[in-house]
Amino acid sequence: KKVLVTGASGQLGQCVKRLSSRYQELEFTFASSDDLDLTLFGVVSAYLRLHEFDYCINCAAYTKVEQAEKEQEMAYLINAEAVKNLAANCAENDCVLIHISTDYVFDGKQETPYTEDDETCPLNVYGASKLMGEEYIRGLMEDYFIFRTSWLYSDIGHNFFNTIRKKAEAGEELNITTTQKGTPTNAYDLAEFILELIANDNQNFGTYHYSNLGEATWYDFAEEILKHMKTNSQLKVNNDFQTIATRPEYSVLSKEKLQNAFSTPVEDWKVSLEKL
Ligand code: NDP
Repeated sequence: KKVLVTGASGQLGQCVKRLSSRYQELEFTFASSDDLDLTLFGVVSAYLRLHEFDYCINCAAYTKVEQAEKEQEMAYLINAEAVKNLAANCAENDCVLIHISTDYVFDGKQETPYTEDDETCPLNVYGASKLMGEEYIRGLMEDYFIFRTSWLYSDIGHNFFNTIRKKAEAGEELNITTTQKGTPTNAYDLAEFILELIANDNQNFGTYHYSNLGEATWYDFAEEILKHMKTNSQLKVNNDFQTIATRPEYSVLSKEKLQNAFSTPVEDWKVSLEKL
């Protein structure tokens, strides 16, 4: 099977790349934004027609949540319009699209884990643009997987795990909020989950929630990272962060639908953190 990975230089893209050597039966093409800019609609069409991929794992996105409030057009172009074009072309070329979305499609007013059927109501431009991308896919094709994930981290790129680690190593003060609750998700776990579904030829297409199990505040997450690093850096609670983008207070995702449709186990977030 031929697998295209878009946004291959990002965090998730690189995790997929690192794990890909375990799947000798799959033929991968890793395309960074330099190789394949998804906003060049004609180029994407021609590329998919030429290569006849069986799967496209779309790891590309505009992910700067704060900046998206100021760069709305760019956020919608990458997270919605480029996804629409990608979906239309995947449908036309019999290519299964595996797309990643976010817990930020929800408003966080709920107090129990969000299911795939719960009403969406994004609080910020990033969430709204990602939701529009999802809706385009659902409207344009049938053979797709959309995985909404949350608090993605790894030892690659810009993420909370790396930020805390670097600050702790530099002896900087760590002021962390306790106001939001969600689930940290090891990006390698998500990458492996996707590769397994391709290898197993799973056809349970649809929209799913994928995160690690359990729930945490950013403070809990930071505490666990420090424990993992075996440092004695101290944490302080700070709930006065001024941000441009509003974030959901609660965005734990229910994994019930996912666990019924796929055999790959999902791990507790604390257990998974230990693997890094
Ligand atoms: P990254 O920001 O690390 O990677 C995104 C990648 O997309 C970058 O490599 C970027 O390339 C690429 N990209 C941006 N614009 C384009 C374009 N026009 N054409 C092609 N590629 C482009 O994100 P993550 O790996 O962390 O996120 C993966 C997915 O998970 C995304 O869909 C994101 O929305 C979703 N997600 C992420 C969460 C998180 O906490 N990180 C939480 C929930 C969901 P370049 O660097 O060259 O611009």
